[in-house]
Amino acid sequence: MCGEGVSDNNPLHATPRERAEIASEAALPERLARAITLAGPIPLSQFMGAANTHYYATRDPLGARGDFTTAPEISQMFGELVGLWLADLWDRAGRPATRYVELGPGRGTLAADALRAMARAGLEPPVHFVETSPVLREIQRESHPDAEWHDSLESLPKGGPLMLVANEFFDALPVRQFIDGIERRVALTPAGLAFDRDGEVVEDSPVRDEAAREIGALLDERGGVALVIDYGHASTSPGETLQAVRGHAFAPLLHKPGEQDLTAHVDFEALATQAAVGDVRVTPLVAQGEWLKRLGIGVRAAALTDASPERAADLAAAVQRLTGKSAMGELFKVIAFHSTDWPAPAGFE
Ligand code: SAH
Repeated sequence: MCGEGVSDNNPLHATPRERAEIASEAALPERLARAITLAGPIPLSQFMGAANTHYYATRDPLGARGDFTTAPEISQMFGELVGLWLADLWDRAGRPATRYVELGPGRGTLAADALRAMARAGLEPPVHFVETSPVLREIQRESHPDAEWHDSLESLPKGGPLMLVANEFFDALPVRQFIDGIERRVALTPAGLAFDRDGEVVEDSPVRDEAAREIGALLDERGGVALVIDYGHASTSPGETLQAVRGHAFAPLLHKPGEQDLTAHVDFEALATQAAVGDVRVTPLVAQGEWLKRLGIGVRAAALTDASPERAADLAAAVQRLTGKSAMGELFKVIAFHSTDWPAPAGFE
């Protein structure tokens, strides 16, 4: 990663001052318009980076009253199964001293459910959150008062294996789009912001690639495992996947920059290629529904239903949302990277 003061439009590299400026009260559309007027059309990746940094820095976007709902917000079962999966792996790795690191923890719900399940298995690691949003950091602090927060992976304490988790983190990192080999830019027209060209789109994401490379390098150097869950595809392929979501509905991409969530499908082939540094192993890619079933979501739902029969319908609906083919079960996928001195993680074979 670049040092302090280096500006390369990568939100993961923004200095605290740059982030404050990006998230400042000055309306983002005006600042974008000024930048384009001064310097010409800006790359879509720069637009997406600025829009999402502002978006996350200024609100809690999750849940029924927000813009979208993630798996851990649907049911405690999701985080609990992630926690049991980590505890099993840690146990088979010989119970080393380790740290729990989550990238983009949102409300901290996944971490709370996972850490509760891990503690029951005797695993109580120190907690580290990589989170750039001051609003979400405050919400995370309520349920995780002892966590440590980081702007990037660079400032993690040195030494010892890591257990990294990233749910719906990579999809929010900026993508580039190319049309006929030329990078797509955002221009200013009398009618407002508009793309400078249209046609068959090919996407890539140097920012995601770099984050995956960094995770791979950390695992190679220190040992441990990284679990990545996101929506996306198994192999690099052409096509436009960028989408804007506001109030649980799709919105036009360039409308209301910084006020709607911009995400794009994660190219898991690219992530795996970048993370496979040194001796790091990559698991097969598995659909979220299949992975959760293999980890025993059915058994967990039955146990919760036994304990609270009045919740039976809600629990069945949650299982359906998390695993159903037309819900999150098929589009969302799970992959793990691990050092060779840790065993093969459960649920992938
Ligand atoms: N993992 C959570 C939240 C997903 S939303 C869940 O599943 O519910 C995306 C999260 O990533 C938010 O916490 C957002 O603030 C954070 N985020 C987005 N871009 C980031 C960046 N460049 N660096 C660190 N965190 C980022």
